[in-house]
Amino acid sequence: MTQSVNSIMRLVRPELVGMAGYEPVEPAEAIARRFGVSLDRIAKLDGNENTYGPAPAVVKAIAKASFEIYSDPDQRALIVAGHGSDELIDLVGRALLAAGDNIVECGPTFGMYRFTAAVCGALVIDVPRGADFSIDLQGLRDAVNRRTKAIFLPSPNNPTGNLLTRPELEACLDLGPVLVLDEAYVEFAGLEHSFAHLVAQRENLIVLRTFSKWAGLAGLRLGYGLMPEPFADLLRVIKPPYTPNVASEVAGVASLEHRAELMVHVGEILAERDRLMTALASVPYLSPMPSSGNFILCRVLTGNARLLRDRLRERGVFIRYFNEPALRDCVRISVARPRESELLLEALRKVEP
Ligand SMILES: *Cc1c(COP(=O)(O)O)cnc(C)c1O
Repeated sequence: MTQSVNSIMRLVRPELVGMAGYEPVEPAEAIARRFGVSLDRIAKLDGNENTYGPAPAVVKAIAKASFEIYSDPDQRALIVAGHGSDELIDLVGRALLAAGDNIVECGPTFGMYRFTAAVCGALVIDVPRGADFSIDLQGLRDAVNRRTKAIFLPSPNNPTGNLLTRPELEACLDLGPVLVLDEAYVEFAGLEHSFAHLVAQRENLIVLRTFSKWAGLAGLRLGYGLMPEPFADLLRVIKPPYTPNVASEVAGVASLEHRAELMVHVGEILAERDRLMTALASVPYLSPMPSSGNFILCRVLTGNARLLRDRLRERGVFIRYFNEPALRDCVRISVARPRESELLLEALRKVEP
């Protein structure tokens, strides 16, 4: 029996037809080829990746692992691991959201919450951040309603780089819905800013963590969530069984064994963040904002942010531009090694947006 594409599309949930997908960052090699820039002249500063990459011991551990057997589907109480925190966000969405439910987020923020809500047929209520990018607690109180299942907040927030405070966290937990606290960058802020220890005390707190940023494993996909035990049990029931795969699992364990070595790179990235902050502040058309993450959001004071992204791209320097109203005059620059900063600063001197 043959079916035309159209007839398949008639079976798709109507709210997904025509949905805009998540806007991922393009691989540097592809863009370099397009603009004819050689690979050694590239600075990839658009994805907040850790360009130090994994510890050498992690690569060795993967090389030695056996891949013919499925990964271990049993994960420990409270912790659910997956292919990146993105998979955890997806699982939380699938567990909580039915058509007509909503999530609350505080923009500008990470795009995955909105994406997952859309896939689940849920609505997004945006409670915009204030001028200093802190969250609007009164706005949150007014926004939460009986169909609100979750509030998604990263700390540090991507792309603004600021942290959630303890009183803000408590106020959000008191609102009732699940608070999904995304700590993807907390290793760059200092672990004293993590609220992971509160998961055992609060029944509506989920904390997400990832190996993508501090451990340099963005391409290998390993993240996890800490959450109340019954909810962790439920996620393990609904998730496809064999994520993370064996390579991610081996890499995660080896990263924890070589944590000190990887944290040296984190320290180097922090030193580079300070240096880059000063250098960016001296670029006449840029105003960098303070950041607790491995990235710096910059306001483009004169000229056009999108054009700046385009001009730098032609020179092999990739930074992130967000086509959304609150960020239209901003770019986000990932902090990498001194080598990438030099290429960036050299390109910034040559272009004018
Ligand atoms: C990069 C990032 C993640 C990453 O997720 P993985 O899926 O673990 O790579 C999660 N949350 C935020 C806010 C991020 O910026």
